[in-house]
Amino acid sequence: MSTYNLPEITRTECTRCGTEVRGINGRYACPNCEWVNHWSDGHNQLPSAEADPDCPRPR
Ligand SMILES: [Zn+2]
Repeated sequence: MSTYNLPEITRTECTRCGTEVRGINGRYACPNCEWVNHWSDGHNQLPSAEADPDCPRPR
């Protein structure tokens, strides 16, 4: 039962109110102020993505 692929659960800080929000694969929705990030933000600004050698990043 534990062999299926879990989505990557990530956390970030709401850019609007600072609440810690949890998301899946870099997508977030703040329960406090209803902020949501754009889908294209996705993994781009996550430490896990930065640590991923396959992730193309300009810096
Ligand atoms: Zn918020």
